[in-house]
Amino acid sequence: MPPSRPASAADIHYRVEPTDLHAHLFTVTLTVQRPTASQELSLPVWIPGSYLVREFSKNLQALAARQGQRALQTVQLDKHRWQVQCTEGKPLVLTYQVCAYDSSVRTAWLDASRGFFNGTSLCLRVHGQETQPHTLELARTAATATWAAATGLKPLDADKHGFGLYLAADYDELVDCPVELGNFWVGRFKACGVAHQFVVAGAAPSFDGKRLLADTQKICETAIRFWHREGKAPFKSYVFMLNAVGDGYGGLEHRNSTALICGRRDLPRQGEARASEGYTTLLGLISHEYFHTWNVKRLRPAEFARYDYAQENYTELLWFFEGFTSYYDDLLLRRAGLLDDAGYLKLLTKTANQVLQAPGRQVQSVAQASFDAWLRYYRPDENTPNSTVSYYTKGALVALCFDLTLRHETEHTLDDAMRALWRRCRGGPMTEGDFAAVMAELGGRSFAREIADWVHGTAELPLKALLESQGVKVLEEPSQLAQTLGLRVAENGGITLKVVLDGGPAAAAGMAAGDEWLGVELPAARTKGSATHTAGWRLTRLDELPLFAGKARRVVALVARDKRLLRLPLVLPEKSTTWRLAPKNGSDAHPWPGR
Ligand code: ZN
Repeated sequence: MPPSRPASAADIHYRVEPTDLHAHLFTVTLTVQRPTASQELSLPVWIPGSYLVREFSKNLQALAARQGQRALQTVQLDKHRWQVQCTEGKPLVLTYQVCAYDSSVRTAWLDASRGFFNGTSLCLRVHGQETQPHTLELARTAATATWAAATGLKPLDADKHGFGLYLAADYDELVDCPVELGNFWVGRFKACGVAHQFVVAGAAPSFDGKRLLADTQKICETAIRFWHREGKAPFKSYVFMLNAVGDGYGGLEHRNSTALICGRRDLPRQGEARASEGYTTLLGLISHEYFHTWNVKRLRPAEFARYDYAQENYTELLWFFEGFTSYYDDLLLRRAGLLDDAGYLKLLTKTANQVLQAPGRQVQSVAQASFDAWLRYYRPDENTPNSTVSYYTKGALVALCFDLTLRHETEHTLDDAMRALWRRCRGGPMTEGDFAAVMAELGGRSFAREIADWVHGTAELPLKALLESQGVKVLEEPSQLAQTLGLRVAENGGITLKVVLDGGPAAAAGMAAGDEWLGVELPAARTKGSATHTAGWRLTRLDELPLFAGKARRVVALVARDKRLLRLPLVLPEKSTTWRLAPKNGSDAHPWPGR
């Protein structure tokens, strides 16, 4: 018999029970009070914020339906939809299990130590009733008796540990509020009067929670005041859910919460005053996902006005929603006092070099990259750096160019443009035309040429001139050897080529992704003709190449490909350069402060 439905449950009610921790199984009981005679149900094929069709229904099993004592047949219509013929208006109860064994922030997880889920993985959508209130009951089992629960959903009747009943205004809200379960660490703070909760699962004993809360609070206050000078956030509460693991990194934004993953070693440690590089990266992730609370969850592409959970939702605007968010994540750390100028410019240097070192920037625009995210961004392969550009990194540089242009020509900044967009679009759907309109208004001129060149074109951005106009020196330093050769490699007792960059020396030599680079021959060595004379040198690390090649500019690379040994003539380049951004001597000016 299915469990009874709480009196305050909505017409669409989900009971989620972690039934078998070792088999990673959640059991879901969905009650539809007023079904149609031929009720359709489906599971989303994607989760907003992560633009790839992931087909979550592959983890759904043992679907059964009944009305009262009568078992009903469920008919699967396609990869994610089902239909049940039933008596209209009489409560329909569906039960099913979901195998939750993906530790990413995008799906669901359940084992003996922790549970996590997104509604997109666990909650079937009741077609035709998506705009009705939905309730979610988090049920406790004997095996999870000591666990607590955290979510951004509104509690209706939850106990002090978070188990019980929650309310969502509609299906969109339900699936936009992930749930964390387990024996996690909890901290709380207020930012501009809004209650924030931070839960951390999997932290090591050295974890300094106080520090994480204090730093996150600074980020939140800086972000709220960025969008609303009067300091009034458009949400009543917020939850950070962080899962600390051996090795991992990622985050997914939601309307009043975020799910994050970081490496355990990146958490702040007690007794350590300096922020490690890993911790600064984590603060950047926190800042990024929090900024999304405005930029993509509320202000969002017009195409996302209403998500279509059944298929790809194409937009050309991810350069704005991901790129501009990437620009502001680190900039707000600087403004919150969590980075100094040198630290900020170091991160900006990294972003600039990532874009400048990938030939794909000359092939694809950021608008095209946005549209193609579904096909390419989440499925990188050996050709990715040659054929695509990242709407994150180049998008961030496009934001920088718009910001520095506004600052150079006017009294305004990109901050003003973001706030103007928020007002113009009432914190809702926007188009590229809206962006063009606020830029023209603030800039006192049309930005059509910049939008065409920087967003829809593949020409180089005028980064150097704009940075120098703001008192930043653009220094050129010798590149890493791999970059000079036009390669990305993996070294593990040998050298395996992962990517061969178009137009580089390795590509000219005929090297290919997947080749194992075994060694080098110098032309002079071969002319000796003696079997005992060295014919060349074995390479196990790329940085051994200068040791053996010396001053030679022409060498022969020995590679293994599909069990064949190949000799490829390789011309070693003189040098190539990489950027390093630095404050101008004697200048202690804050790089582009908030205005
Ligand atoms: Zn993002």
